[in-house]
Amino acid sequence: MNLHNKTALVTGASQGIGKAIALRLAESGADIALNVREADKRSESLRSEIEALGRRCAVMPCDVSQIEPLRAAFARVADQLGAIDILVNNAGIEKRAEFLDVTEADYDAVMNVNLKGAFFLAQVFAARCKQAGRGGRIINISSVHEDLPFPHFSAYCISKGGMRMMTRNLAIELAPYGITVNNIAPGAIETPINARVLSDPALHDALLANIPLKRLGRPGDVAGVTAFLASADADYITGTTSVVDGGLLWNYAEQ
Ligand code: NAP
Repeated sequence: MNLHNKTALVTGASQGIGKAIALRLAESGADIALNVREADKRSESLRSEIEALGRRCAVMPCDVSQIEPLRAAFARVADQLGAIDILVNNAGIEKRAEFLDVTEADYDAVMNVNLKGAFFLAQVFAARCKQAGRGGRIINISSVHEDLPFPHFSAYCISKGGMRMMTRNLAIELAPYGITVNNIAPGAIETPINARVLSDPALHDALLANIPLKRLGRPGDVAGVTAFLASADADYITGTTSVVDGGLLWNYAEQ
């Protein structure tokens, strides 16, 4: 993919899928803004890796659920790098609890990071693209759980279902400005968010039994699709979800 002369902002980029996306976009030629909750050794090391590829890289520390600080941080990083062409809304959290035990604080935390942050970052990004008279790309890292129920993760599923409808709506509203909006829906990917399953052989085997391709996904599997959606080859794609799940979502078998 050729992303030379493009600049991408990736949220939640300190580890996991976000880190892999930032690296893949940089390898494809893009300059990178790394949003992280807090700057730390992980963000410094990733910045060095990206700069070693010959790309510019700015770290943007900000909790994406805090909307006014998020707007200010976006303006700072866009000024610093000149413009942002590609927004990847990747930051996400999940909280496990039976529906009857979900607290208001956990519900709010999940919705505010996964959905509200992505919504208002897309808004400030699109406003800037419109003002500059240039198109843009919004790529949201959703989940197979934008469609598939996941017991004990109701707020998470609701946030991803909301992201699916956000994408469909914004794709239509932002098309006149040359901005495309798409989701990527990963299945089970080997990242720290799945630490509980990855460290328990019984849970791991039960999960694998659901995946026709018989392996968990790797962060690079999601990063490759992101680079494609960010590239000129995806100019005519908007309002869609690309599922990256080894066949998990539509897996059904009878004995
Ligand atoms: P992860 O390893 O837990 O990484 C999540 C990243 O988001 C971390 O860098 C984290 O920073 C950051 N983050 C969390 N809260 C934030 C906030 N308020 N502001 C800014 N950054 C924040 O998880 P992952 O697996 O890479 O997940 C990335 C995305 O993929 C999420 O949206 C997730 O829902 C989605 N997804 C993952 C899977 C999977 O199987 N892994 C499947 C479907 C969808 P800190 O480390 O500093 O907290």
